Parts: sequence; C-alpha cells; structure tokens
Amino acid sequence: MTKLTDLTIEQALNGLNNKDFTAVELTQVHIDAMGVHKGLNAYITDTPELALEQASASDVRRASGDARPLDGIPLAIKDLFCTNGVQTTAASRILDGFIPQYESTVTQKLFDDGIVMLGKANLDEFAMGSANTTSYYGNVINPWKRDGDDAELTPGGSSGGSAAAVAARIAMGATGTDTGGSIRQPAAFCGISGIKPTYGRCSRWGTIAFASSLDQAGTLARSVKDNALLLQSISGYDAKDSTSANKAVPDFAAALTGDIKGKVIGIPKEYRMDGMPDEIEKLWQQGIEWLEAAGATTIEVSLPHTKYALPTYYVIAPAEASSNLARYDGVKFGYRADEGDLTNMYEITRAQGFGEEVKRRIMIGTYALSSGYYDAYYIKAQKVRRLISQDFIAAFEKCDVLLTPTAPSAAFAIGENEDDPIKMYLNDVFTVPASLAGLPAMSVPAGLDAGGLPLGLQVIGRAWDEETVLKVSGVIENLSGFKGL
Ligand code: GLN
Repeated sequence: MTKLTDLTIEQALNGLNNKDFTAVELTQVHIDAMGVHKGLNAYITDTPELALEQASASDVRRASGDARPLDGIPLAIKDLFCTNGVQTTAASRILDGFIPQYESTVTQKLFDDGIVMLGKANLDEFAMGSANTTSYYGNVINPWKRDGDDAELTPGGSSGGSAAAVAARIAMGATGTDTGGSIRQPAAFCGISGIKPTYGRCSRWGTIAFASSLDQAGTLARSVKDNALLLQSISGYDAKDSTSANKAVPDFAAALTGDIKGKVIGIPKEYRMDGMPDEIEKLWQQGIEWLEAAGATTIEVSLPHTKYALPTYYVIAPAEASSNLARYDGVKFGYRADEGDLTNMYEITRAQGFGEEVKRRIMIGTYALSSGYYDAYYIKAQKVRRLISQDFIAAFEKCDVLLTPTAPSAAFAIGENEDDPIKMYLNDVFTVPASLAGLPAMSVPAGLDAGGLPLGLQVIGRAWDEETVLKVSGVIENLSGFKGL
C-alpha cells in the first residue's frame, strides 16, 4: 500500500471519504515523519497537539456528513502568516516569542475549510532571500542531493521551509508568499509545484508585510491539482485588505481539463540570458515541444524592459520594506533589548533583532526614500515598473500565457552565493518581472539537470487568469512525467 505521506491532497481526500484512514491517522504519520526529518529544519514551530486536536474535530465532522473541502489535510503554514495563539516569527529574532492574538485571513480560510496545521514553516528572515539562509532559526536543507555528492543544498527562498516540507513529505501542501519569486523558485529547487496568484487575489491581512505592493500569498504542493484545491481555499475578497480584489473566484480545479488546443504560448526572447546553463535552455525547448504536441502554438514575444526588472525590484522592495519594518521597535512586539533610555532601547533592539540581509535592505530602502533621492530612485523605479507591466499587456495581445524557466540554475549548495548579494539577487531574474506586474505565475517541475536535481518551468498568465496558468502547467506536469523524491 502507498504510504499515507506519499498521497496527494486529492488522493487523501478520497481516502478520507472512503474511510480508508482517518484524519488523525493521516496527521499522526506526518507528525512521525516530521520527527524523522528534523534535520531539514523545515519548521520553526511544530504544533503536533493542535494538529491532532484539529484532526479529531475533522473526523467528527466527516462522520456526521459535514466534511469541508479540505477537511483533515495536514499542511505547513509559512511562518509569515499570523496564527492566533501560535508563535509567529517571520524567521526574525525581533519577533521571537511573538504570539498573535488574531488569525491571518489566509489561515482562517484554510481552517474554515478544515485543514490541520502541522506547524509554522521556516523561511528567510522577513521573506528576504533566495536560499533560506537568512533565518534566525537556522538554514533549511533541501531534501534533494546531487548524484554522488552529499553536500547540503539550499531549498531556495524565501518559502524554503514550505517547499522542503512538501518535497520531503512532512506536509501535504503548504502556504507560501511570493514578493519576487519566493514560491516559484523554492518550488523549482525542491521539485514541486507552486503558484503565486494575481496580486489582490488573496488577502494580505495578517500576513507580515515585506513589500506591500508586491507581497502575495500562494500555495505549494506536489501536484498542480493540489495547488488548485489550496488556492481555491485562500482566494477571495476581504474587506480587511483594501488591495484584495472584489472578484468572483472561479473553480480552479475545473480548469484542469488538459485541453490547450488553440492556446498561444508566448516565448519571451529577452529571457534567453547570456551564460544561462545549456540544461535550462534545453528544458525550456522541451517545454515548448510538449505544449506544441498538446495542440498549442508557440510564438516569440518581446518584453523589452526585462533587463530593468531586477534593479527596479531591488529599489521598490527594500523601499517598502524599510517603511514596513519601522514598526519593530521593541515596544509593540517580540524582542526587546532592555538597555538605556528609550532611544537606546529602540536602536539596540533593532541592531540586535534584525539580521544582516534585513539591515542591508532597510538601509537601501531608507536611502532610496530619502529626500533628494526619492525622485531619482523610488519614483524612477515606479515608472520603469509601469513600462515592465505594459510589456506584458502588449505580449498578452498576442498570446495566452508565457513560458519561461523558473530560475537560472538548479539548487545550489548552502553557502554558495553568500559572499555577494548581487549574485544571490540574480536568482530572481525570471520571477521578478511577473511580480512587478502583479501577474499570476506558476512553477512546475519539468525535469532533472545532469546532477539529478529538479528544474522548473514557469507559466505566467494574464491578470486574473490563474485558470489558464493552471491548465497549461497541468499539461506540462502530465507530459514531463516528473517523479518527485
Ligand atoms: N528572493 C527575493 C528577495 O529576496 C524574493 C523574495 C520573496 O519573494 N519574498 O527579495
């Protein structure tokens, strides 16, 4: 019999309905597996008692015919979502010990749909990073290894704990957030799929803010269908977030018909970067052939401002972060250095409470927002952002979705790229443009590199058209025959 931890969410829901096993059993095997895989450091806080309580409540509901859409499914929750009564840290010392007295809208919606929370997943501090090496609670380790090499690899970031947990089968799915690639890049590095929906599809209420005009909740899971099921739950208008959109949420799973005949797939020529490994180029070509074989046509499109996306992002994101992070002063939440007078207390709390990368971004952001530089950097970046967005609008007059690689490499070793922040930022080269334009984008595993590590392809869609993104990703998933760990 298949191990319960190997099931997809879809299969587990069937098994629960057929009474093949209970939610308590399903939860317990995941709790046991979390113990076995402690070394991955995928979770900051484990919540086994809460999980078992939620699982038994789920079994009671199912027995009385009141099962909800995701009833009894054990998930990891990125530790950026505030959870009522459960420590929420954003992987920062400055929030160590912070216990929210309220529930984020995303987690509330999942709980309303019956999920079981296994714990709070590790991440880069305040979701700033591409390797999950900036967490105050330690690095997350990718469950994948290069063939014949025992070096520990990064799971990608910032949703590294979420991705590692799902790949290692210590969660059936996970929530993530994506500001510039934090769902898609770790999904690609860990050989799973993940979707960042359109900006405004999910409420940001109760999600700790990094860069508010870019932050978007989304999901990670081992199949495209499972992502559709999770996304269904977390989507929708929320009066508590003025940037959440008052739009009807379609039936995402119903979009997975496999029928892409007549769809036009755009291949952006500017994504063919110098120095991109051959294997990535080959996989991209393979993706094009799969989609053509399934009845789609492909055309080359141009997104001429792509080369400005990374510098634009690395002005806007730190600027917004520096403003959002001003609230952490040792008075209201989490860590306080009780030293000296009030000003000293503020300064020492922030000096000790934030890590290096967060401090770097606060400094870059404060500089970009300071009078005299505001127009030259922040306003200029906003103008370029508009141009990038218009590139996509023009491309989508000719095609239905875009196909690109998710990241310029497979997972790298822990410690690699650490010496040079710019090298680290280059990881986001393919994911950042869709974030700046607020578009839905999904990474789906498509193959392995020569070292046996997973590589992902990215499907980017028109605003509010997650359905086509999921549909095309589903076709890639079927044709690639990719096997996870
Ligand atoms: N790696 C990017 C950054 O460090 C994206 C992070 C994210 O999407 N949260 O900003």
